[in-house]
Amino acid sequence: MTVELISVGTEILLGNIVNTNAAYLAEQCAVLGLSCFYQTVVGDNEARLAQVLETALGRSDIIILSGGLGPTRDDLTKETAARVMGKELHMDEHSRKRIEDFFTKRGLELTDNNWKQAMVPEGAVVIDNDNGTAPGIIIESEEKRVILLPGPPGELIPMFESAIYPYLSKAEPGVIYSQTVKLCGIGESKAETMVADLIAEQGNPTIAPYAKIGEVHLRITAKASAEKEAKKLIKPVVKELKNRFGMNVYTTEENVTLEQAVVDLLLANKLTVTTAESCTGGLLAAKLTGVPGVSEVFKSGQVTYSNKAKHRLLGVKKHSLGKHGAVSENVAKEMAKGAAVSSRADVAVAITGIAGPDGGSPEKPVGLVYIACSVCGKVKVKEYNFTGNRNKIRESSVIAALTLMRHCILEYYSALLSAK
Ligand code: ATP
Ligand code: MG
Repeated sequence: MTVELISVGTEILLGNIVNTNAAYLAEQCAVLGLSCFYQTVVGDNEARLAQVLETALGRSDIIILSGGLGPTRDDLTKETAARVMGKELHMDEHSRKRIEDFFTKRGLELTDNNWKQAMVPEGAVVIDNDNGTAPGIIIESEEKRVILLPGPPGELIPMFESAIYPYLSKAEPGVIYSQTVKLCGIGESKAETMVADLIAEQGNPTIAPYAKIGEVHLRITAKASAEKEAKKLIKPVVKELKNRFGMNVYTTEENVTLEQAVVDLLLANKLTVTTAESCTGGLLAAKLTGVPGVSEVFKSGQVTYSNKAKHRLLGVKKHSLGKHGAVSENVAKEMAKGAAVSSRADVAVAITGIAGPDGGSPEKPVGLVYIACSVCGKVKVKEYNFTGNRNKIRESSVIAALTLMRHCILEYYSALLSAK
């Protein structure tokens, strides 16, 4: 089945607010296995809204509209949708009572236009709004379904989760189940090439790659009559992807982030960690300390921005700073070693680089970053050449540091095992 999204509101059209509702709804439809081929933004204008809705009804099975369900005159989504669908509006007693309760509970005065929100197209399904006054509405006619949702995300999202998601999951017979294989330390094009054959011959399940900063996620989606069956279809694909990507797979769990996976690895091996950061200014420490339970392993983080700080706090040699420069393999290594010594942590990670926009040179361009990781005295350093603006370079550096940490820890233990 196909879904089409219509976001109603002049504010969105003018760029005053960002259309996060469409992003949220589109993502949810993908999870549900529903194809979304069109999205439209239209202002609070009855004629243009009617035209957009008519077009949508001509080419999509399910149309989700958001916004314009409020009490004021410029809120005209429901009236327009009812007219286009040929339905009369009538007072819905249940909604009227809820609106009345909403206002009396809060000690607010009801104005006449509030009753407008209890008017519902004939035969429509009414969905209670637990976070506001405008109920959600589903109008079903022949082969088409039109779903109206309130604009404020604080109302739309809970309503979608509690009522619309279950409703839509029944729209297609069977269940859709997906699992994500998350990769780090591998580029998007390489990852795609490595699964090109699987994608070319895919049917059920499907594999969809998603590129993130420094990561690639492969989402496997299966359709079956029951969840158990869908999981059964997905299992061998996950196994195959694990075989192909080996150490690059950091998790197959939906909720596990890269920083969580790194912290889990530290916890499992009882390794403490410290960070020494220059161009990322503490972003790596912030990412790590965002993981609950990290206090067991995180010792300290230092931001050593100036050469002086690198020398005084981490013991980086003045000679190294003078000869190689602060952004160099040598300095990154000495930063990691110095941080390990001063904090007595098992793992020390150091980042030094040029985040830009200024400070680059032909030999050392913006985006050049060195990251060093020391695991129990064994140090590895890597050079990176990131692209993008200052923020993107800093974010990429943090993800690369987490990836390198994970890699070094795994390598250290596999070397120990093979030495036994
Ligand atoms: P209200 O009862 O508040 O008038 P409504 O259903 O009529 O709700 P709108 O008037 O269209 O919705 O929008 C109300 C607010 O909801 C907007 O000011 C904005 O903050 C938010 N909003 C609306 N549409 C979107 C959207 N597509 N993405 C993100 N936020 C939105
Ligand atoms: Mg409104």
